[in-house]
Amino acid sequence: MVVVMSADAEEADVQAVVTVVEGAGGEAFVSRGVNRTIIGLVGDVEQFGTLNLNALRGVSDVIRISAPYKLVSRENHPDRSVVRVGGVPIGPGTMTLIAGPCAVETPEQTLQAARMAQAAGATLLRGGAFKPRTSPYAFQGLGEKGLRILADVRAETGMPIVTEVVDANDVELVASYADMLQVGTRNMQNFALLQAVGGIGRPVMLKRGMNATIEEWLMAAEYIAQRGNLDIVLCERGIRTFEKATRNTLDISAVSVAQRLSHLPVIVDPSHSGGRRDLVLPLTRAAIAVGADGVIIDVHPSPESALCDGPQALVDDDMRELAATVRALPPIVGRTLTTV
Ligand code: PEP
Ligand code: MN
Repeated sequence: MVVVMSADAEEADVQAVVTVVEGAGGEAFVSRGVNRTIIGLVGDVEQFGTLNLNALRGVSDVIRISAPYKLVSRENHPDRSVVRVGGVPIGPGTMTLIAGPCAVETPEQTLQAARMAQAAGATLLRGGAFKPRTSPYAFQGLGEKGLRILADVRAETGMPIVTEVVDANDVELVASYADMLQVGTRNMQNFALLQAVGGIGRPVMLKRGMNATIEEWLMAAEYIAQRGNLDIVLCERGIRTFEKATRNTLDISAVSVAQRLSHLPVIVDPSHSGGRRDLVLPLTRAAIAVGADGVIIDVHPSPESALCDGPQALVDDDMRELAATVRALPPIVGRTLTTV
């Protein structure tokens, strides 16, 4: 941590900072420049944060140099992590395809979508039973009945399940069916939910909040990690910008940035980013090219009658191209499609 003194700070102001820091058990190294003095602090950064150094006379700025997240940071964990979901790896060296319907609607629809996904190379099945919908009048998901359908489809196809949990009170229930719990964009800063999924002993896919900075996203992951769960996969799903042509703006650079700052795997959701079927394959190519550890894609056997997000679901016609893409592109960036 560095304390920058203002140009008119007096020697007594500098000494006051040194006294406070040393009083808290830290060390303070003073460098006097031509115009300003800066003080480098060594010690417990979290404790320095409680000292209110900003409020001392003559202090112009207090700058934190180390990351505020620890457990998910790459600073203390240089190797990138692999998270295993029901035996399926997500992490460096591989590119994992997760696909399935946005929402579980019926056993037939879920099984058909899973078969489409599997034929294209997906090794994990996505599908929402609890749906966080903007409108209270929209389909809210089948709840536990949907989880039972997912479990049946897992038994039929062998695909482990990724499904969303929207309420801390449902974490135990959802975890009793799911292989990976999904925390959606709207809940990225639902701290009670983050702590609950951190304590349940299942891998978690944490979507980036649509208005969240990368640092806020990693701090949300830190909440999960702090409860003892480091099996976290970050998912970039697009952020809100002024652009209206797409549902969200896929922040493709966030994949590389997050992979540099954190050891956790980072995947991309091209379906919820673009929000349009015709953009899903181009954005998938972009995600693989940038080095994403996986992609999560909406597919539906008949999107025209889908109860949720039909316009962005891939259909049968698209699946051949998806299959070719996820096989051909990863080797160019040193990865192979995850198989079981
Ligand atoms: C979803 O994946 O079904 C979903 C609701 O995504 P998001 O939280 O990114 O909107
Ligand atoms: Mn959706």
